[in-house]
Amino acid sequence: MAKNYIVAINAAIDANYTYSFPEPIGLGTAVFVPLRNTRRAKGVIISDEAPALDDKIKIKSIIEANPDRPVLPIRIIKWAKWLSDYYQYPLGLVLESCFAPLKPATKTRKTHKNDIVPSVEKMALPDLTGEQKQCLSGISQNPHFNVHLLFGVTGSGKTEVYLRLLEQSLSQGKTAIVIVPEISLTPQIVKRFSERFPDEVALIHSHLTPREKTNQWWLAVNGKKKILIGARSALFCPVESIGLIIVDEEHEASFKQDEKLKYNGRDAAIMLAKLHNCPIVLGSATPSIESWNNAKTGRYKLHEMTKRVENRSLPNVHIVDLKDEESKDKKKQCTEVDLPFWLSFELYEAIQKTLIKKEQVALFLNRRGMAQTTLCSDCGFVYECPNCSISLTLHASNQLHCHYCDYGISLKTQCPSCFEPSIKPIGIGTEQVQNDMHTLFPEANIERADRDEITTREDLEKLIENMEEGRTDILVGTQMIAKGLDFPKLTLVGLVLADVGMNMPDFRSSERSFQLITQVSGRSGRHSELPGDVFIQTYNPDHLSIEYAKKANYVDFANTELEFRSDAQYPPFSKLVCFKITGLFESKVKDTARILADRAHLLKQKFEIYNKIQVLGPSPAPILRIKGKYRYMLLIKATDFKVVSPLAKQLLGSKKWIPAQTKVQIDVDPLNML
Ligand code: ADP
Ligand code: ZN
Repeated sequence: MAKNYIVAINAAIDANYTYSFPEPIGLGTAVFVPLRNTRRAKGVIISDEAPALDDKIKIKSIIEANPDRPVLPIRIIKWAKWLSDYYQYPLGLVLESCFAPLKPATKTRKTHKNDIVPSVEKMALPDLTGEQKQCLSGISQNPHFNVHLLFGVTGSGKTEVYLRLLEQSLSQGKTAIVIVPEISLTPQIVKRFSERFPDEVALIHSHLTPREKTNQWWLAVNGKKKILIGARSALFCPVESIGLIIVDEEHEASFKQDEKLKYNGRDAAIMLAKLHNCPIVLGSATPSIESWNNAKTGRYKLHEMTKRVENRSLPNVHIVDLKDEESKDKKKQCTEVDLPFWLSFELYEAIQKTLIKKEQVALFLNRRGMAQTTLCSDCGFVYECPNCSISLTLHASNQLHCHYCDYGISLKTQCPSCFEPSIKPIGIGTEQVQNDMHTLFPEANIERADRDEITTREDLEKLIENMEEGRTDILVGTQMIAKGLDFPKLTLVGLVLADVGMNMPDFRSSERSFQLITQVSGRSGRHSELPGDVFIQTYNPDHLSIEYAKKANYVDFANTELEFRSDAQYPPFSKLVCFKITGLFESKVKDTARILADRAHLLKQKFEIYNKIQVLGPSPAPILRIKGKYRYMLLIKATDFKVVSPLAKQLLGSKKWIPAQTKVQIDVDPLNML
């Protein structure tokens, strides 16, 4: 007799449908089903206990099982259900991400470059430091689910702790997953893992071709490779028996996916570990305030490493106050060269000394291009993007670019508004820093690391090799060089303008600044007996994130920040859900936002459990328009975490009320509210 099954379908629909099939078919099987006008929609069996339906309803039949896809393990289905429910995204679409992009390869493939590792004779492992030993034994004591926060200063040897944990996991025959932010999936980190475990590492990241990704995916799924390293999407690889999950740089905002399923990779990893009842390690030199709070309240187990390995010291941090008259005077008195406006005499002198010692310099600025914007000094005209509410960035050869939609035009010195020849560049970007360095240090080899210059993995590999071999003297870069990198001869780090990002309209801006400054500083002097140096140029030397970064005092910073969050009832003391309303016509977007807010107020009045939620907005997003679409936001803040999910569901309801040509998206635990 035919049996009924519930199938989650790969389509933007909120419900899962019942289908029948004459033969028994297992939970997690990938199938083809008819859906409206689609004859063969992809789906996954999520229940084989579908309730009998009314005889009048005609149940369609499953067409067949998909022969190219493995049966999904029950745990990954549970995990996908959690993701779908928590982030409010159709289950069928979540499950689709659990499969490889292509069919399995039929021929035995050639080895991909990433996984060729020369079989190293047995490597001599470093003796662990006392702190490393303590953390290792603390974490490996209990094989069951626990969230471990490994809080270790930059260069304290966190990666070595991961490697030892992986060794233990391998000896138990289990698979381990290591998640790192895409941007720090540098060849350096990958090399450290694959050198230690030749033949054991599968690697998944966005620079792979679909074929390469498919191959790596199968190696992990078949258990041929027991260590899976990747960006957040690697979590979706349906591996059966996971014994350990590691999330490196757990504080990174880039773990959060900004579109479609707006999940946070770290939080999703914790849920996956819970379902596998295995330990998870969150590592960072600057843990997120949320994780820090969880460690303080005992929900996470805290493991600390306060010193760099081999008694190497943390760098000396020097703050250069760009407003300071004394500092300006020093610059004026420097007659041998003309210093560019963004460079203090103090930093210039430090660069000079470092180059004389044949050591390396890294200059960090989180802004690409020549200048941030251009301005007519006569009438105030600013070149803006026609599609986005953002000014255009000036790049080399007088090209103006929008960093949001890629719109570009050439700059004319004559102002298009008042016709005076008075258009001037304003601000500073990495290209200009590089040019100025060339002028000041014509003998030095200067390289730039930003998204304009480094577009492929090969570019990045070359750049890193040049640094490692000492061919580069000065490296200028954006956040691309902030983390993960480890260069023995790099002893001076300069933050060209630490204020970038400090005053973003976001309650996390101090946290982000502190993290970034600490991470960038952490690149300096990682291998020298003598401490490296860090120069932070800023207009806000008294800013909390600078003061605490100078003292390398994460704990005091985090505790101060927690007080602020508690007073203002921001996360982790409340939960946020951001509704993002977008569309081509501002009036419609605004109306939709208004209706949504009214619905929220109504629900709040009607149901006692929602009494205490706060409805903030609606308001135009800080960047009102991106790629031609207007953007409004409505924020819900709740101190009672349990009400968030039902409220969000009820608020959206059937979605039938949403006017045509506008879109409402839910972002649970939002990180980006610009
Ligand atoms: P983190 O990840 O905490 O920034 P790393 O793991 O990259 O630190 O370690 C910093 C450097 O110290 C690396 O070059 C690493 O190989 C080395 N290292 C790590 N542990 C030890 C140890 N116990 N003894 C000697 N060197 C070590
Ligand atoms: Zn644009």
